[in-house]
Amino acid sequence: MYIIDGKALAKKIREGLKVEVDELRGKGIFPKLAVIMVGDDKASSVYVRNKSKACNEIGIEFEEYLKDDSTTQEELINLIKELNNRKDIHGILLQSPIPEGLDIREAFNTIDYRKDVDGFNPINVGKLSIGEDCFISCTPHGVIKMLEEYNIETEGKRAVIIGRSNIVGKPLIQCLLNKNATVTVCHSRTKNIKDIVKEADILVAALGKPKFVTADMVKDGAVVIDVGINRSDEGKLVGDVDFENVSKKVSYITPVPGGVGPMTVAMLMYNVVKAAKLVK
Ligand code: NAP
Repeated sequence: MYIIDGKALAKKIREGLKVEVDELRGKGIFPKLAVIMVGDDKASSVYVRNKSKACNEIGIEFEEYLKDDSTTQEELINLIKELNNRKDIHGILLQSPIPEGLDIREAFNTIDYRKDVDGFNPINVGKLSIGEDCFISCTPHGVIKMLEEYNIETEGKRAVIIGRSNIVGKPLIQCLLNKNATVTVCHSRTKNIKDIVKEADILVAALGKPKFVTADMVKDGAVVIDVGINRSDEGKLVGDVDFENVSKKVSYITPVPGGVGPMTVAMLMYNVVKAAKLVK
């Protein structure tokens, strides 16, 4: 059994990006990410700090827009439009969640698709579904990079994804299809989920339920990617997979922490550099 080291791969990707950023800066292009956060969600603050740190390390400039929860939809949309029009900003990210009463879909739809480094704008979602070059949502993209780095064959393999969210499960369906896997997606209304999961050559758990995937659900020799990030009762970070027992029977597995999490931030950096390279 091999443990897929997301932390090490993310570091390697960031190092490669730093070289690209240096080259861009040499040509007078200074990659810049603008992050908008509305309200004071504690987890979001940590995520934004991590993104800012990663930008700093690579040489990507970072602008933060911290708006309080009295921000109106009109103010949010106007801010996005202003950032769309700024030539010095290459990537725009709206941190979710935003306060209730604001329409996050309208906000994502307003972000110029060429600056949509989260890949949530419908133009990028549509491009992904027809296999065109686009910004791919960072977590699914990170999962694909991990499979590629470890030379894990996807073609003709049975891939099962648990979870169908717009940010993880759904884009991952498309990413795995584009790599010629046979993809099944499970969700909260799926019947006989254990039987379906047991058929997976490649299993991706992205449902947000601690240790949901147990050893009896997993085929011998399967590849298991754990996207989940949950807090255990003792306050420890745990994934959606019972790592201790599942790891005994699989060929590859990602740990939590140190698996998909660091890859998500690395792929965000990748998207910002990609956006900066679009500048003519
Ligand atoms: P989400 O929006 O809450 O979606 C969860 C999905 O799981 C839904 O499609 C839901 O089905 C399905 N689900 C819930 N309970 C289920 C069950 N008992 N059986 C089968 N399916 C079930 O969550 P998300 O944003 O995709 O995140 C999923 C997990 O990944 C969370 O732990 C989150 O923290 C983590 N995450 C990690 C990263 C990272 O960088 N590593 C990034 C994003 C998210 P329905 O659609 O039927 O409700």
